[in-house]
Amino acid sequence: MEFWLDLNEEQQDLREWVHGFASSVIRPAAAEWDEREETPWPVLQEAAKIGLYGFEFLVNTWADTAGLSLPVANEELFWGDGGIGMAISGTSLAVAAIYGSGTPDQLVEWVPQCFGDAADPKVAAFCSTEPEAGSDVASMRTRAVYHEATDEWVLSGQKAYATNGGIANVHVVTASVDPSLGRVGRPRSSCRPARGAWPARGS
Ligand SMILES: Cc1cc2nc3c(=O)[nH]c(=O)nc-3n(C[C@H](O)[C@H](O)[C@H](O)COP(=O)(O)OP(=O)(O)OC[C@H]3O[C@@H](n4cnc5c(N)ncnc54)[C@H](O)[C@@H]3O)c2cc1C
Repeated sequence: MEFWLDLNEEQQDLREWVHGFASSVIRPAAAEWDEREETPWPVLQEAAKIGLYGFEFLVNTWADTAGLSLPVANEELFWGDGGIGMAISGTSLAVAAIYGSGTPDQLVEWVPQCFGDAADPKVAAFCSTEPEAGSDVASMRTRAVYHEATDEWVLSGQKAYATNGGIANVHVVTASVDPSLGRVGRPRSSCRPARGAWPARGS
């Protein structure tokens, strides 16, 4: 099996496009938002306006079978600024979890709510880490219990380190329904994104 890191034309276009945004929008705003210690909503809005923040962008980068588009885009975003890079890419953690374990209906219902739209962007949070469960995810203590009388799932536990936690429109929380199942006790479903394209170089 061959593997190489040379970027094709589409990946180069992507890199230049994201670099342009990082250079003209992220870098000039970075110091201010770092000082404010707040989510840079206007920058997210700019990113959403040009299609750099949203489900379509994720689908396009995920569709790259070489697997290089997302790291190339993230490298440029984080060259702009680490904090703003996290603000823009953090939502994708929650979307990846919905994509990985959700049903197609759940994807359609929840993913748009993760991003909002260009006029009113939203963020989502993926809440897996716990004070006593970091790398070792299987040791999580958060429980999900179904209450038949009220037809409700009740979550109990404590999460930590969740990017966008508390300010997110959608929180994806990992929890165990049956601890005896250990690490095999998680649902799976699968679907593949469609292929797409970003603006050509110079546009
Ligand atoms: C910027 C940032 C954003 C984050 N965003 C999120 C988020 O959105 N959602 C979320 O759920 N979590 C998030 N996290 C948490 C992150 O996933 C955890 O920090 C990570 O899983 C490690 O867990 P820990 O910090 O508890 O360290 P630990 O798991 O306790 O690890 C401590 C050290 O021990 C080493 N280590 C651990 N296990 C082993 C082993 N078996 N063998 C050898 N060495 C080992 C590790 O490499 C590390 O050096 C974020 C963290 C950061 C820094």
